[in-house]
Amino acid sequence: WKNAPPSIRSVVEWSRQHGEKIFLVYEDERVSFEAFYRAVSAFARELQAQGVQKGDRVAIVMRNLPEWVVAFYAAASVGAIVTPLNAWWTGPELEYGVTDSGAKVLVVDAERYERMTEHLPNCPSLVRVYVSRERDEIAHPLVKKLEDVIGAPNSWKDLPAEPLPPVEIGPEDDATIFYTSGTTGKPKGALATQRAVNSNIMAGAIGAARSFLRRGEAPPQPDPNAPQRASLISVPFFHVTGCFAVLNPSLFGGAKLVMMYKWDVIRAFELIEREKINQAGGVPTIAWQLIEHPARKNYDLSSLESVGYGGAPSAPELVRKIKETFPKSAPSNGWGMTETCASVTGHSGEDYQNRPDSCGPAVPVSELQIRDPNDGVTVLPPGQVGELWAKGPQVCKGYWNKPEETAKTFVDGWVRTGDLAKLDEEGFCFIIDRAKDMLIRGGENIYCVEVENVLYDHPAVMDAAIVGIPHRTLGEEPAAVVTLKPGASATEEELRAHVAEHLAAFKVPVKVKFWHEILPRNANGKILKNELKKAFEEEQAGA
Ligand code: ATP
Ligand code: MG
Repeated sequence: WKNAPPSIRSVVEWSRQHGEKIFLVYEDERVSFEAFYRAVSAFARELQAQGVQKGDRVAIVMRNLPEWVVAFYAAASVGAIVTPLNAWWTGPELEYGVTDSGAKVLVVDAERYERMTEHLPNCPSLVRVYVSRERDEIAHPLVKKLEDVIGAPNSWKDLPAEPLPPVEIGPEDDATIFYTSGTTGKPKGALATQRAVNSNIMAGAIGAARSFLRRGEAPPQPDPNAPQRASLISVPFFHVTGCFAVLNPSLFGGAKLVMMYKWDVIRAFELIEREKINQAGGVPTIAWQLIEHPARKNYDLSSLESVGYGGAPSAPELVRKIKETFPKSAPSNGWGMTETCASVTGHSGEDYQNRPDSCGPAVPVSELQIRDPNDGVTVLPPGQVGELWAKGPQVCKGYWNKPEETAKTFVDGWVRTGDLAKLDEEGFCFIIDRAKDMLIRGGENIYCVEVENVLYDHPAVMDAAIVGIPHRTLGEEPAAVVTLKPGASATEEELRAHVAEHLAAFKVPVKVKFWHEILPRNANGKILKNELKKAFEEEQAGA
């Protein structure tokens, strides 16, 4: 760990050795590592000229674009606390993100600038707004066009080869504020140090070697002549999975990162073939689409070596499906949260195939504990379900501006996750459900994930969710929302009978609602269960 990059800035410096290899690909834009370095350096100097100093917040509101990546690393390189906001947020939500973080500078794409214009007067902390990809002139005193400062991505190679402006940054300095997904309440900003952000790079490298050692095999040695690795990024940079688990390791390791305007499975097939992508995935729903879409057969996807995901529950069935569909590629799964700067557990290949319902053991050098959810202190033995607690170099310092929530969640270096889980004797972790997602039907616990996994097992089911619907005497009952595969058919009774075959009667959904598209999800691939509940409530009200 002494060799872990001490700061995000040091990752940028290190990456310059990858020189003329391509780093970022977006539509017809291709940016080499050297060109990227020059753009970062130019924008870092611009930020300093605007008075941005260590600890100031720089907010980014953009879809996945090369400019997002430059803004992130430039702000980090001058010691600012980079604050990416969710590009799916509405105007008022973005205003909350800017005012909550007290951002001094905002870097925004044209589409989102429009969404924010009327909110700018309510964001007094801002001294400068950079708008990218805007065609028209903007007559606003705070606004500058980003292209006027650094040019367009294909011209970054022509920027002067100047070093980053000098700033002393250490591993304990504040680095980023990423907002949680807001699945259980209002999104909270999690404040991470430089060390926490970079811990994924080392955990990934050491973790991969560990799985070879576990099997008694020698880990592969780095080969300078090996072809460059390529990843397709299908999750947003503004969540920790995209930024810390994919982007930052790609920059460090010299991998090519291919971006998409937005997720589109056919476009993904085209890009995998054209760019010879080795790694794809992100969240489970994307992996499912890669497997299930019939157009898959029209493309050469033989370069795929790994289909990985995390961030949301995934059915054990998915592991087998990946091996069946892409025999050369290793499925992988990792568990993490915004508060832990992406993965705290992870495994792939045989380890995962042998335990398809596990999200793996703790990554090096983290620790997991299962504690009694009632007291938050008693540590439970292997095999028992309780609340998952995690500790390690990637755990955040706390929530930005939220001392009470911080005190509840961050305790003595541990983070209380709010997830129910168990560990086996070897330390493999099995997520049972979110504590808040669990239903209690007349005193009996129902873990939604368990019932969802049984539904996923049914050959006609493509997507499934269990939600609690109110019941006068039992409190809550499970109901299912299901999307069938194209051309497949199943009745409500068949699906209920399928669950009844595998699970106790009290877990069988009392109702099944059929949905006609993939279930609504947030940017992290999590099903928006409140919307599904609303659909049942509306039905109830209409009845
Ligand atoms: P909020 O905290 O605002 O309610 P959130 O918890 O959804 O939102 P994130 O930090 O993006 O915000 O997500 C972390 C959660 O995602 C974990 O607590 C867990 O419930 C879920 N999760 C992450 N990875 C996995 C995984 N591999 N398997 C199952 N669940 C996962
Ligand atoms: Mg959470």
